Amino acid sequence: MKNTVYAVVIVVCLVLALVIFLVTRSGGSGGADQLKRGEMMWVKCNNPDCKAEYQIDKKDYTTGLEEKVKVNPLSSQTPALVCQKCGKESLFWAVKCESCGKMFFYGVVPSDFSDRCPDCKYSKTEAERKARAAGAATQQ
Ligand SMILES: [Zn+2]
Ligand SMILES: [Zn+2]
Repeated sequence: MKNTVYAVVIVVCLVLALVIFLVTRSGGSGGADQLKRGEMMWVKCNNPDCKAEYQIDKKDYTTGLEEKVKVNPLSSQTPALVCQKCGKESLFWAVKCESCGKMFFYGVVPSDFSDRCPDCKYSKTEAERKARAAGAATQQ
């Protein structure tokens, strides 16, 4: 029982640390200010009646996320942004699988790589790590 409590406390501390990092990174004016425009990322709507998938500027996403965190700093969940298509707060970071092209939510597979595809199990992070490990092995 005690272990469960400790685990919860650790998770809360990690989330808090991340939030503090995001909010204070650029001296209080918001970390998004330091991001350059032009880098696009995928987002996906979690509203079953909408399911919109589109690309937005990473800076817009980060700015939106920071505003949500400021309003509700103790929330342990990733805040959802407002969907451009249906207007609901159900927009999350999505990943487009480079192997099969499926669009899925970032971190959809628990306790695994955050970019693990739930369909074909491809993970770009894992593939890059394997490639790096293989490269290191051939150099020896
Ligand atoms: Zn939507
Ligand atoms: Zn896939």
